[in-house]
Amino acid sequence: MPRTLFISDLHLAAERPGTSTQFFDFLAGPAAGADELYVLGDLFEAWIGDDELDAADSDGLGRDVAAGLRRLAGAGTRIHVMHGNRDFLLGSGFLAASGAVVAADPMVVEVAGLRTALLHGDTLCSDDVDYQAWRQVARSTAWQQAFLARPLAGRRDEMRQLRERSKRSIEAKPAAIMDVNAATVADEFRRHAVRRMIHGHTHRPARHDVRVDGTECERWVLPDWYGSGGYLAADGLGLRMLRF
Ligand code: MN
Repeated sequence: MPRTLFISDLHLAAERPGTSTQFFDFLAGPAAGADELYVLGDLFEAWIGDDELDAADSDGLGRDVAAGLRRLAGAGTRIHVMHGNRDFLLGSGFLAASGAVVAADPMVVEVAGLRTALLHGDTLCSDDVDYQAWRQVARSTAWQQAFLARPLAGRRDEMRQLRERSKRSIEAKPAAIMDVNAATVADEFRRHAVRRMIHGHTHRPARHDVRVDGTECERWVLPDWYGSGGYLAADGLGLRMLRF
C-alpha cells in the first residue's frame, strides 16, 4: 500500500521563517520516501505570480520552497499542489520549478483503499457569502489576467491591502460563518459518491464522522502550520493525523 501524505495551510511567509524551517524539516523527515504528497492549498500566505521566482528583489522564499519540493520530487515522491484562497495564482512556472503537478479542487482519488474527495475547503464555507462572491471574481480569467499584467511591486502592494481588508472582515464575522456548512458538506459527499473527504482551510483540525443519507462518512480537516504544524498520513494501516 503506498504511503500518501496530506498537508495544507502552511501559509509560508518570509516574515515567519520558523514555519519555513518546519516545512524543510518535514520534507527531509516525514515526507522522505512518501509515494505521494498532496498540498491541499495555502502553501503560501500569498502568491502574486510566478515571476516572483525570478525577481531580483524577491525575498527568495518561493525559490527555496520550489527547490525543496523539487528535491523530494527528484527522489521519487509525486507532489500534487492544490490552489488555496491565498495562493491560487501558483502557475506553470512554479509547478515546473518544483516538479509538482496541479491538483484540481475538488478531485477524487483512492486513499488507503477508499475513494476520497480532496478539497481546499473554502468552497464548503458557503455561509460566508461575501467570500464566495470574492472567490468568483478572483478565480475568473479576466481578474487574474488584469492582476498579473500589473508590475510586481504594484501586485505586492495590492496583495498586502487585500490581506489587511480580509483580516478586518474576518474579525467582524461570527466564527460559525467561517466554518463549513453542513448541507454543503453533505452535497459534496453525494456529488462525488464518496465516504471520505479531506480538506483544510478552516484551521480546525479534526476527524468528523457524518451520516449522509444513512451512510457513515468521514471528514478529515487538516491543521494549519501557525505555531505548530502537522500532516495526515495514509498507508496500509489507515489514516492518522500527526502533529508537531
Ligand atoms: Mn484557505
